[in-house]
Amino acid sequence: MTVEFNSPTVTGNEERYVIQAINSQKKSGDGPFGKKCQAWFEKMLPANKVLITPSCTSALEMAALLINIKPGDEVIMPSYTFVSTANAFVLRGAKVVFVDIRPDTMNIDENVIEAAITKKTRAIVPVHYAGVSCEMDIIMEIASRHNLYVIEDAAQGMMSSYNGKALGTIGHFGAFSFHETKNYTSGGEGGLLIINDEGFKERADIIREKGTNRSLFFRGMVDKYQWVDIGSSYLPSELQAAYLWGQLEFAEEINENRLSIWKRYYKGLLSLQDTRKLSLPIIPSGCCHNAHMFYIKVANLEERSSLIAYLKDNDIMAAFHYVPLHTSSAGLKYAEFIGKDRYTTIESERLLRLPMWYGLNEVKQQYVIDMIKEFYQ
Ligand SMILES: *Cc1c(COP(=O)(O)O)cnc(C)c1O
Repeated sequence: MTVEFNSPTVTGNEERYVIQAINSQKKSGDGPFGKKCQAWFEKMLPANKVLITPSCTSALEMAALLINIKPGDEVIMPSYTFVSTANAFVLRGAKVVFVDIRPDTMNIDENVIEAAITKKTRAIVPVHYAGVSCEMDIIMEIASRHNLYVIEDAAQGMMSSYNGKALGTIGHFGAFSFHETKNYTSGGEGGLLIINDEGFKERADIIREKGTNRSLFFRGMVDKYQWVDIGSSYLPSELQAAYLWGQLEFAEEINENRLSIWKRYYKGLLSLQDTRKLSLPIIPSGCCHNAHMFYIKVANLEERSSLIAYLKDNDIMAAFHYVPLHTSSAGLKYAEFIGKDRYTTIESERLLRLPMWYGLNEVKQQYVIDMIKEFYQ
């Protein structure tokens, strides 16, 4: 038996909708499927204004453009994240300022943010790791006191919430990913930008449409369609939106399925936590998560390497990720870690992600649990 690490979500309706898009006259962005997806997010999250994008990376880039990040600006974020969180701001000339994470959630430590703020700081980018929320009340309070923007990297957080509010709808902006490794995909690549600050709604449309007022023109609000601002191409095609629609129809079912897999792992591995062999994820109160991943934490790097090898020998694919960005070659060039690295490096070296995907069956999952138990015997 082989247990893959990931298997992209498929509900069965994607094919029909994609063919429908192929056979329609409208294949570029914001066609009927694109509009349906956006209306769904606006209603379900809920959110005032959302735009689907080609990726979470491009949603983050749009946010950096919208707040006019310029050379010399500083943006605070955790070092334990995907490169796009940093790149979106480095592309605008900003210096990235990394701070430490909390060991319980692997999220930015809200208590070390303030010490990293300088006159040049413009924004804070909390990353909701594993779809578990950062401490947003405190982060928003710090941001408002220092007049900073908050851009939530909610790439992993669709269907998660913090004190009843959907992730991505709390900061000024929220960015989501529909890459094939995430809970919902628009056919391999895709993303979403949430614009919570009213003042950015119109400019978001312009930046997404190559710096033109095309969307105002289509709505009949201007009589000429022209170049009015900087911008780029941030619209996904109708084929991507059609694929995504096939998943949004099953959003709740996919979420329930993942949560039940998550709970089975937790229950199945609890005895190993009780005997202090490994640690299981911690979900703070007020955080409702989406079972984006199931990770365990082992003693150290060596033990993780031998467990990965042991599982691989038994055809189980487990994976780790995020070598902390401040230790990478680009990180050394474009960023600086402020404060002490108490947890970022050491906790990232202990973390191991187990196979987790929509439809992972009980037999395979039990096999993973059994093999981990066997390793520790
Ligand atoms: C996946 C991910 C991204 C990038 O998403 P894309 O859609 O591939 O651009 C950014 N940030 C985090 C935290 C992610 O997990």
